[in-house]
Amino acid sequence: MLKLRFLGGAGTVTGSKYLLANEGSRILIDCGLFQGYKVLRLRNWANLPVAPASLSAAVLTHAHLDHTGYLPLLVKNGFAGPAFCTKATAALARILLPDSGHLQEQDAEFANRHRFSKHHPALPLYTEEDAQRALSRLKPVSFDQPVTLPGGAKLRFVRAGHILGAASAIVEWEGRRIVFSGDIGRYNDPLMPDPITPETADYLVMESTYGDRRHDRADPETVLGKIIAETIHRGGTVIIPAFAVGRAQSLIYHIARLKQAGKLPAILPVFLDSPMAINATDIFLRHGGDHRLLAADVEMLDGGIQYVRTAEESKNLTASPFAKVIISASGMATGGRVLHHLEHFAPEPKNSIVFAGFQAGGTRGAAMVAGAVTIKMFGRQVPVRAQVHNLSMLSAHADRDELLRWARAFKATPRRTFIVHGEPQAADALRLALKDEVGWEAQVPDHLEEVVLE
Ligand SMILES: [Zn+2]
Repeated sequence: MLKLRFLGGAGTVTGSKYLLANEGSRILIDCGLFQGYKVLRLRNWANLPVAPASLSAAVLTHAHLDHTGYLPLLVKNGFAGPAFCTKATAALARILLPDSGHLQEQDAEFANRHRFSKHHPALPLYTEEDAQRALSRLKPVSFDQPVTLPGGAKLRFVRAGHILGAASAIVEWEGRRIVFSGDIGRYNDPLMPDPITPETADYLVMESTYGDRRHDRADPETVLGKIIAETIHRGGTVIIPAFAVGRAQSLIYHIARLKQAGKLPAILPVFLDSPMAINATDIFLRHGGDHRLLAADVEMLDGGIQYVRTAEESKNLTASPFAKVIISASGMATGGRVLHHLEHFAPEPKNSIVFAGFQAGGTRGAAMVAGAVTIKMFGRQVPVRAQVHNLSMLSAHADRDELLRWARAFKATPRRTFIVHGEPQAADALRLALKDEVGWEAQVPDHLEEVVLE
């Protein structure tokens, strides 16, 4: 009997983990961290309802931490199987997971030093070393290359756009075909290829991040250019919270084009402040087939940007009074170097903060986008007087119309469709839209719900 259980990503955009079980074999599709609301983050600390050692394999749809960030803990707690992913996902995970461990250690250390944690001592969820150890589990495979998983299931990745290496996973087991959409990207994105809909699915597990929203149809480059130009005219600084390998390349691409077209001063300093930045361009160059840029475009990206690698350089950047653009992680301001910049620049009205991706409920990003007048960081309330913008059209996620377009491309209606990876309102809006506009009956599963795939 084939069973599917929702261990994360149900009723929330984070913590994606879907357990497929057949007799003695178990596969975990995605292995993400919960982020945002405290009640969600606490789930990272609870034992999984399945022993990690009993899993025969893991499958990772893409490198974002809400899909991979739990792997170090899974391995630490006994998982010893292979974690299949695309080659670019493996390359990104090799940077991202150790960085995630490093940040967890730093947060725990900071909380202990300033004694603002309720836990004494505050402990990291996992360390950089745990993350390094987990990397040995990664088994990179090519797109469209069928692989047989331990336990007999067959796996194939197809392109989902979104970020470098992102895939939908097609799993065939016991004569059933189960499709996990992963995160679905945009159509006609300047950097990423279009998402590809698998031809058929008996069962479909589909994301719904923007299930209740259409992206603004305004040209993102024009809007971004206007915000940056106005901010530097006031002598302000533009802070863009973004993951260093992903949307950051799109932002740099747009800014480089704005400079080329004379819409922004060529001398405007643009910084990518991330210890990971050194590897980002490199990974784009090495995975030429996974994005739309030519080598010359990648080099143009490289030329238009100053990399900030050490923590010391990052601090100097915060202290610099000159007009500039700083792109720094994390994208939802849940951690990372961007916090120091926000602490310094958010209180001044002349500055701008530009969010360029989905802000999960309970994150500092979501609070700022909703108009919070203060945000808590480093144990204190920081006033937000800078202009806050949310450019959802720069998001790497399909909006509700694009999700429907992706769904319509199936050759037949899946037997059952489960809507995941969305906040309750977005998931239910997509359920209704699929019913009204595509003619599908879909359901929104609960956290930990289990279904039998007949
Ligand atoms: Zn993602």
